[in-house]
Amino acid sequence: MTGQAQEYDFFPAHVVRTRRLGPTMLRVTFGGGALRSFASGGRDQSFSLFLPHPGQDEPDLPYAQGEGWFAAWRAIPADRRAVMRSYTVRAQRAEPPELDVDFALHGTATDDHPPADSPAGPAAAWAAAARPGARVVLLGPAVADNRSVAFRPPADTGFVLLLADETALPAAGGILEWLPAGTRALVWIEVPDAADIQDLPAPAGVDLTWLVRAPGTPSGLLPALRAAELPAGAPYAWIAGESGTVKELRRHLVRERGVDRRAVAFSGYWRRGASEDRLREEAYARPS
Ligand SMILES: Cc1cc2nc3c(=O)[nH]c(=O)nc-3n(C[C@H](O)[C@H](O)[C@H](O)COP(=O)(O)OP(=O)(O)OC[C@H]3O[C@@H](n4cnc5c(N)ncnc54)[C@H](O)[C@@H]3O)c2cc1C
Repeated sequence: MTGQAQEYDFFPAHVVRTRRLGPTMLRVTFGGGALRSFASGGRDQSFSLFLPHPGQDEPDLPYAQGEGWFAAWRAIPADRRAVMRSYTVRAQRAEPPELDVDFALHGTATDDHPPADSPAGPAAAWAAAARPGARVVLLGPAVADNRSVAFRPPADTGFVLLLADETALPAAGGILEWLPAGTRALVWIEVPDAADIQDLPAPAGVDLTWLVRAPGTPSGLLPALRAAELPAGAPYAWIAGESGTVKELRRHLVRERGVDRRAVAFSGYWRRGASEDRLREEAYARPS
């Protein structure tokens, strides 16, 4: 949190309970008094989650240092410093203060789903083993209107396009809950298993299509979008999921459909073959 003390803050929290939503998706509910001042802006509100390594009781994160926390955290050896990962607020409740976060359990074999092609990262593995009482820290919003909410359709939007894989399913759910009634929206959500399909609230006017990606096969999001007939009016698109797929979807909208690039909010939530640590190091290495 460098220079944005008013917008973001650290929130120590603990696991209250977990609930399996499907073969590859787990809801972890976090609680703790500090969450009273966590101010989710809804929609695709994201935050940084700090997790302990196996064998640690709590994440090793020097957040009491305020502005200097990041340099201090990076100075701790990688196998000890808290694991830092990006997640989305699926739901927030006031009393008792609770946050629901839905984890895609990539790479973790479950009884009713085969192991994925890549090994689980530390966050997916942590979630799969999480028990009530486990301690974490969140770096999240202290004000509801914050830069970690990306879904911001302009007032003259004629229709909304949402394209998401399982990691962006929680964000898509938050956006669908927020959409004003009567908004025309075409939504595609891709999950690894038909049993991961959720009963999402979709206001009238929302056309929601679920896609199931068989293990080891490419995403079906681009073929689905290509085949779609878009309504008349000014589109606003929100795309999130695996980086390569997100790029292709954006390219299709901007180059082949002529959508104004400013009307496409897009975010690579993960990249095949690269951990979030590696993506962060690449971002720091880029000249600013
Ligand atoms: C703004 C934002 C919001 C996000 N919200 C959510 C959310 O609510 N729920 C959620 O589940 N994820 C969410 N993600 C994605 C999540 O942060 C990444 O999937 C993250 O890499 C998981 O960390 P990890 O420690 O499990 O794996 P990492 O250590 O980061 O990666 C290890 C390996 O696993 C691969 N990998 C990572 N994720 C996946 C995946 N889903 N499927 C297959 N392989 C994968 C990587 O390519 C790498 O090879 C969000 C990301 C962003 C940027």
